[in-house]
Amino acid sequence: MIKYKSPEEIELMREAALVVSRTLGILAKEVKIGAIPNKLDKLAEEYIRDQGAIPGFLGLYDCPSTLLISVNQTVVHGLPNERPFEDGDVVSIDCGSILNGYYGDHAYTFEVGNVDPEIKKLLKVTKECLYKGIEQMHAGNRLGDLSFAIQNHAEKNGFGVVRELVGHGLGKSLHEDPQVPNFGRKGKGKVLKEGLVLAIEPMITQGTYRVRQLDDGWTINTVDNKAAAHFEHDVAIVKGKPEILSTFDYVYEALGIKEEK
Ligand code: MG
Ligand code: MG
Repeated sequence: MIKYKSPEEIELMREAALVVSRTLGILAKEVKIGAIPNKLDKLAEEYIRDQGAIPGFLGLYDCPSTLLISVNQTVVHGLPNERPFEDGDVVSIDCGSILNGYYGDHAYTFEVGNVDPEIKKLLKVTKECLYKGIEQMHAGNRLGDLSFAIQNHAEKNGFGVVRELVGHGLGKSLHEDPQVPNFGRKGKGKVLKEGLVLAIEPMITQGTYRVRQLDDGWTINTVDNKAAAHFEHDVAIVKGKPEILSTFDYVYEALGIKEEK
């Protein structure tokens, strides 16, 4: 059952989302050659608690960490470890917070040093997919319109769309209805309504879209070990239109990137 949010709830959710946004901004400065994922995880936990919030993933479904850090062929759900980042790595950091009883949940894929041009393109297209999906999140559209926009843009660029993992509704639980697939058909699925809040999160691959879970019960890798990218925003329908509650502005500020959404 979808839990539609009141304007007051959406404001509380924006604050939860911004805790994550600021945390990703802090991490953006630290993601470089030689950085240790476990140290980033500790930094993120402290920073989230300093903001009066609680790490959203830690302990949920027995998750052992604050961050999920997915490097190169790991699509999502990589567990922080002691392996330093290397030149050319791409690192997806997914972070959750709980503030005011609501979840924030968003993610960014960072480049470490000199990244292969084809993989740079994968990151660019995945981020574009996220915004193509968001553009469709108008009251009266259907969920399939959003899913189709993401899939179409990824495949048009020769990339794969992961099927097993999807975006989701967001609120007092991290995963609420509806599921938000990154593939689908226009005009199909639920009608989008005022107060809907979604975590939209394209997971796009350089090669095959097929994935497998490692024996740790968490890490999801591409089957062909080619790279994957993952960007996620929290988005609400307000006055019929999509409003992004999270922001990449802190990341862009940290990285000196201008003129991007
Ligand atoms: Mg996430
Ligand atoms: Mg999510």
